[in-house]
Amino acid sequence: MIVLQVALDLPLAQYFDYRLAEENQRPSAADTVGRRVLVPFGQRKLVGIVVGLSHRSEVPPAKLKTALKIFHDVPALDAQALALFEFCRGYYHHPIGEVILNALPPGLRRIKPVFGRGGSKFHELVRLTADGTAFDPATLPNRARVKRRLIMALQTAGSLRRDDIRRLSARALRLLPELIEDQLITVDKVLAVALPSPALRDPLPALTAEQAVAVKDIGAGLGRFGVALLHGVTGSGKTEVYLRLVEQVLAQDQQALVLVPEINLTPQLEATFQARFPAVQRVSLHSQLAEGERVMNYLAAQSGSARIVLGTRLAVFTPMPALGLIIVDEEHDGSFKQQEGLRYSARDVAIYRAREAGVPVLLGSATPSLESFHNARINRYRLQRLSSRAVPEAALPVVHLIASEKKSVEGISPPVLDALRQRLARGEQSLVFINRRGYAPVLLCVQCGWTSGCSRCSAKLTLHAPKNRLRCHHCGLQVAAPSHCPHCGNADLRGVGQGTQRIESWLTTQLPEARVLRIDRDTVARPGQLASFIDRVLNDAVDILVGTQMLAKGHDFPKLTLVAVINADASLYSSDFRAEEKLFAQLMQVAGRAGRASIPGEVLVQTAFPEHPLFAALQRHDFAAFADAQLRLRREAHFPPYAFQALLRVESVQDGAAQAFTERAALLARPLAKRVQVFDAVPATMARIAGRSRWQVLAQSRQRGWLQPFLHAWQLALKEIAARQVRWAIDVDPVDL
Ligand code: ADP
Ligand code: ZN
Ligand code: ZN
Repeated sequence: MIVLQVALDLPLAQYFDYRLAEENQRPSAADTVGRRVLVPFGQRKLVGIVVGLSHRSEVPPAKLKTALKIFHDVPALDAQALALFEFCRGYYHHPIGEVILNALPPGLRRIKPVFGRGGSKFHELVRLTADGTAFDPATLPNRARVKRRLIMALQTAGSLRRDDIRRLSARALRLLPELIEDQLITVDKVLAVALPSPALRDPLPALTAEQAVAVKDIGAGLGRFGVALLHGVTGSGKTEVYLRLVEQVLAQDQQALVLVPEINLTPQLEATFQARFPAVQRVSLHSQLAEGERVMNYLAAQSGSARIVLGTRLAVFTPMPALGLIIVDEEHDGSFKQQEGLRYSARDVAIYRAREAGVPVLLGSATPSLESFHNARINRYRLQRLSSRAVPEAALPVVHLIASEKKSVEGISPPVLDALRQRLARGEQSLVFINRRGYAPVLLCVQCGWTSGCSRCSAKLTLHAPKNRLRCHHCGLQVAAPSHCPHCGNADLRGVGQGTQRIESWLTTQLPEARVLRIDRDTVARPGQLASFIDRVLNDAVDILVGTQMLAKGHDFPKLTLVAVINADASLYSSDFRAEEKLFAQLMQVAGRAGRASIPGEVLVQTAFPEHPLFAALQRHDFAAFADAQLRLRREAHFPPYAFQALLRVESVQDGAAQAFTERAALLARPLAKRVQVFDAVPATMARIAGRSRWQVLAQSRQRGWLQPFLHAWQLALKEIAARQVRWAIDVDPVDL
């Protein structure tokens, strides 16, 4: 009897056993490992992944069900992919089935085979099994001449398409079933590769001295594991370093995986890679692709035909048989951390994956995370510096602080308005950065002090202008803004504070001749929209950009010479120990948008705390000084990267239940905690979202190795007390506390 161990998309930390039917043991039982399988589960049928085989089962034979179908439509997940999932299961303490199934594109989670009809884009690829590779064709008798030739051809080429084999001889094609039977070959459907026609490409720019050092050094590390941190100021030409390294990887017939934090950053990077490697198959992977396209791209990567894979965090799980290099661009970015389900950090998973694959990983950023920077400081990562801009004329911008007590109308101080006017007169572009969308963050009754709170969250409703709606940015609740105070009936209600809409409308009245473009999540609703906005900026159809952090990242606007930061202070004295790190990164990134070509840039920061040391470092563009100072504080306070944390997150629609569970969880943790500090149960910073009350317990330790066994034991204990109305999850290496 052969038993399949199947991972199913269920929140249970176990495999499920199914009998493998006789007729499904072709070409071999081992061939089912890593394949999708259709199994009965209660009244339902589920798709799972076979992760292993066994000859017995704990399930009594009478109850052991038989797998309904083994899918051979796409290649099986290889051992490396399965090992990566196993790592995530253990490290993030997450059910294996959810880990695996969520890493697959949705198209592969359906209970239908991928290619019903219209499989014309695919061809069948014939490959030798281990037995086939070891097989000596000389042992075949003379009358098996065709078979001998076929095996020799496969051994030379590694793999052949069905069409190639037909060309070899029609008789060879008829031999395939027999060879499958003998377990000498496997046949998989893979994407047919249509290579773009090679175009002339621009001459490569000469590398700057620092770029050359980085390329040489990181290039020398290809073929083995190592982490390089490319710390390059904005505009220093990190992309060029990526391109040169990818070129080396391609020359060695290997694949490159490039991860970016945001879907919106992919079009620009796609264009860059397209221009540099016009004849190389490249695919993108992110959640906004159509289902079919995502499956195709995934399979192209898995079959090895796509040589460059560009994607967001989920792409870190893409099987790539010839992986040669992983690049994580903007490695500090919070979007690499998934905030629900499997709460993984794609950057950390990338590093684990690179180690297992024996390839280098390159982390790039102008503002590295303090974790990565610390690792570079202690020589665990190799630090590569790009300290000046690639284009010599493009100096780093000058940063001025504007004390915000200076009279400011509608949130914009007179010096900022003057600077905007100047740029307008000179035909240059400006960016007004404010990290808040909507019109005003809250509606206030000037009579009684009532404010617009969300009924479902511990948050204020934001006033949105055009339709005068109040919207909750946490749960999505929308209501019409009241015309009178619901509390005292007063009609004088005011929007307090500024959002992008208010800045936009005020600028339009102050500078009527300016073409103002607002970019935030409300105006960029569908994919592709941002790209068209960016085109407008590049085509000089915009004078002033008003936007949120969406604009801060990665974009290159040559005519942009002024950046004004409207409210930098919100996170200066926050309870989150990472708030300053995040603010500094954001300010440096947004400041980096100014003066990227030959016109010098200027950055104006409005703040009520101009003497704060963070701003002094910003003015000097001195990330290292800022980071070292922060690291000293972190060391004294025993915070990451000098400690490793995990957060138990609890939520419930019943207020009391969340609290009770969390408090019990903290009590249970204490006797289990060895060299692990367990803090008290506390309400989350956002104590309520969408009607659920939220609680948490923080655990931390000086060593990862001490934290992990504790988490394992704690999780088992928590399962014992699990209550129906309570949802909980352990967040390992949380970034939002
Ligand atoms: P970063 O990602 O480090 O912020 P980019 O990669 O966007 O910087 O590069 C900034 C600008 O410098 C781009 O316009 C790029 O084409 C240009 N650039 C990069 N390297 C060179 C080089 N060696 N010579 C000339 N221009 C370069
Ligand atoms: Zn009132
Ligand atoms: Zn809400």
